Amino acid sequence: MTVKLYWEDAHLTRFTARVTESWPQGAHRIIALDQSAFYPTGGGQPCDTGSINAARVIDVEMADDGRILHRLDSDDSFSVGEEVTCEVDWRRRREMLQQHTGQHILSQAFFRLFGAETKGFRITDRTTEIDLTLEAQPDEIERAIERAEELANGVVFDNREIRVHMVTTEEAAALPLRKESFITDCVRVIEIADYDWSPCGGTHAERTGEVGLIAVRGWERAKKMTRVHFLCGVRALDDYREASRSVDAIARKFSVGREEAESSVTRLLDENKRLSRRARELAGIVAKVEAHELIEAAEPVGGTRIILRIFEDRDVEELKLLAHRLVDGDNVVALLASKEGGTARLVFARSANLSADMNALMRTACERLGGRGGGKPDFAQGGGPKVSELDVALGEVGTTI
Ligand SMILES: [Zn+2]
Repeated sequence: MTVKLYWEDAHLTRFTARVTESWPQGAHRIIALDQSAFYPTGGGQPCDTGSINAARVIDVEMADDGRILHRLDSDDSFSVGEEVTCEVDWRRRREMLQQHTGQHILSQAFFRLFGAETKGFRITDRTTEIDLTLEAQPDEIERAIERAEELANGVVFDNREIRVHMVTTEEAAALPLRKESFITDCVRVIEIADYDWSPCGGTHAERTGEVGLIAVRGWERAKKMTRVHFLCGVRALDDYREASRSVDAIARKFSVGREEAESSVTRLLDENKRLSRRARELAGIVAKVEAHELIEAAEPVGGTRIILRIFEDRDVEELKLLAHRLVDGDNVVALLASKEGGTARLVFARSANLSADMNALMRTACERLGGRGGGKPDFAQGGGPKVSELDVALGEVGTTI
């Protein structure tokens, strides 16, 4: 078994140790030491990184027999018995220690206030998650989270002492532990003064102030529990900066203070809805007028007016609107196209009193355009990538009516 130096001192980053095993694995090397301050992945917390001599430690795992195995990014050879100089990346350790200790504090807050137990815990790349036995309506959960966040941060601001106890299972049974321990011989208990007792093998702060701000990012229902996402310390600071930059950028666009950013966006969205509604109304009127002019200008052939038009950049909705207005009356066939976005788009329609098959015509035209299309006998739409064939395709279709 490797001696766990991180159990004795979570702030120890430089240490020396002796190599007890060393073997190559692909392009990497795995080495075991007699003692290690590198925390191995486990208990919801990712491992430490750092260096052993000149080699980078990229992964650390605990073997079933208690050996801590360090994966190095190179195949530098190490001999058994050799003394090595090790360094744990402190920035990463502190980041993990803050999230992990913050979890103890926040979990106890949910337990104290609502009797909600923490059934799952994991630190991910961006946030930390806890799965709570907390069931309520969404607005009640929001309020519960606010209260737990308030209590947890109060504990941080108190800067309470955090103590580590190694106790026997009998001694552990007498402690007000927050969760059951599965360790049978000896139990490591983390005490947050006058607040929380939890069995845990992780790395913790020395005082609650070291955790920094505990900020809940959001929550969701998962596995029939409430999953709360939160950030502590450096992560909370990074997130605050990002959120601050974002809201400032929005406020600047409206030339208002950040307090007014949200109401400015709401006003803009309302205005946008109103304008969209008005634009639709006006488009309807314009389509009617345009349809009237196109019909007037078209020469009837055998009593039928064929309106054939290729527009540069109208979207399909505009084409459809115009086509419908064109065929509102009798004896009109509308063959409309657009080159919007480098693609040929087609809408064919005919008056109800005519019998030409728009679906069949559309299929013929789309074939030439290298695309697909279809619809009903009186209305069809389609398109294709061969924009240069558009004139020919429409011309051909027009002559068959
Ligand atoms: Zn812990």
